[in-house]
Amino acid sequence: MPDVVVVGAGPAGLATAHTLARAGCVVRVLEATDAVGGRMRTLRADGCLIDTGAEMLPSAAGYPATWRLISAFGLDADPDAVPRVRGALAVWRGGRARPHAGRPLGLLTGAGLPPGARLDLLRFQTRLNRMRDLDPDHPERAPLGMATVADLVRRYHPDLRDYLVQPIAAGFFGWDLDHAAAGPFAAHLKASGSTGGWRTYRDGMDTLTRALAARLDVVTGYPVTRVSTTPGGVRLDSPRGAVTARAAVLAVPAPLAAALRPDAPPYERAFPAACGYAPMLRLTLGLDRPMAPTGVRRGFATLVPAAEDPLINVITVDHHKHAGRAPAGRGLVSLIASPGGTTELLGAPDPEVTERLTARAERFMPGVTAHTLSAHVHRFRHGLPEATPRAVALRAAFEARPVSAIEYAGDWTTLRPCSEGAITSAERAAARVLAHLARPR
Ligand SMILES: Cc1cc2nc3c(=O)[nH]c(=O)nc-3n(C[C@H](O)[C@H](O)[C@H](O)COP(=O)(O)OP(=O)(O)OC[C@H]3O[C@@H](n4cnc5c(N)ncnc54)[C@H](O)[C@@H]3O)c2cc1C
Repeated sequence: MPDVVVVGAGPAGLATAHTLARAGCVVRVLEATDAVGGRMRTLRADGCLIDTGAEMLPSAAGYPATWRLISAFGLDADPDAVPRVRGALAVWRGGRARPHAGRPLGLLTGAGLPPGARLDLLRFQTRLNRMRDLDPDHPERAPLGMATVADLVRRYHPDLRDYLVQPIAAGFFGWDLDHAAAGPFAAHLKASGSTGGWRTYRDGMDTLTRALAARLDVVTGYPVTRVSTTPGGVRLDSPRGAVTARAAVLAVPAPLAAALRPDAPPYERAFPAACGYAPMLRLTLGLDRPMAPTGVRRGFATLVPAAEDPLINVITVDHHKHAGRAPAGRGLVSLIASPGGTTELLGAPDPEVTERLTARAERFMPGVTAHTLSAHVHRFRHGLPEATPRAVALRAAFEARPVSAIEYAGDWTTLRPCSEGAITSAERAAARVLAHLARPR
């Protein structure tokens, strides 16, 4: 019998299992799908590396827990293994992409913002830099109370909201400015730093999760349907057979964790119940030649504000992210649907999603339909955790709960919609499991 069973082989589950195994526990990871990586999974198809969900990471200052693991696995020994993403971010405005968004150079070039909004961007950044207690791992400590992201930017030039904050919040977080809490947004933005520091994994965004899984006991194709406590520890039910262990970690999105454990004590239910997830929808197109939105030369991601398009929120030029993403002479681009477009198309058949988004992309990349060789639709019903003011308010009590035989990991536990949130949650979950196992039986 394993000491600990971890449910879910995304970054949170695998990092938790890694930490527990290093501490001497016998750990097994059960994953429902046929591959590891979760929302950081990479597909290998048509000679391309297709990142289905996550696509980049900031420098070590922004993602310290992630970079500790990268170093532990020696992935940074090869300077080309986690390369910089050049021209990381642009904003679409007035018929073309405007480069240098989210980095100091953009304050000079504009990056889609008129002079008044640029000045306000500088004021906004200075305010964030001066704000104390802006800790992305403890968003409830931010001195912003129940303010929403809309409240946070209300005092500034409206273009700062419409041509930077809205497309970032929607495209990278899946968040609505009127519903999302200001604290986690401000803390994540400050921690992530300049887009000039963005990096990716040369061999696919699943590189770290594959490295973790290679050293662990991971069983794929093993969906867990229920987790309950027993006198000796825990029992996990699955159509593949029940498993028992001394402890379990549920490293799955909050709504799935809540469904796995309907008999959780009341103090464990309120916070996960408040953690909704925004769905995300992405279409990746393999092209017979490299193409990019008008105005993009070598750049990677272009934000499309809601004021500019109702259906598409981000366009990534994946063959610019790293040379190995597509075969020489070919192209790979992805279209991330807007929140409205995602609601409309999430349940639609693949050909309809492809047809609607590709037709819409013609205005950004004229001729793209004719150059498309292949299309892959990626759907995430639980795309990114929504940090509402209510969820932020409930988080401290959840963190203070007693340790137990069933623990939780995942980006939602830190209310941080990114892989760093998942990996920091793993450190905490592993420490709690070890504390539980150390208690006298
Ligand atoms: C479109 C998109 C873009 C993103 N871009 C970025 C980015 O650029 N940078 C970044 O840092 N982050 C990004 N993210 C966020 C990042 O992918 C997630 O924060 C991270 O993957 C969360 O890790 P996790 O382990 O908590 O959950 P997941 O990655 O979702 O892993 C959970 C795992 O549990 C499995 N599972 C679920 N239910 C069960 C069950 N019942 N039994 C067994 N297994 C189960 C799932 O199959 C999955 O493998 C993006 C996410 C999306 C959707």
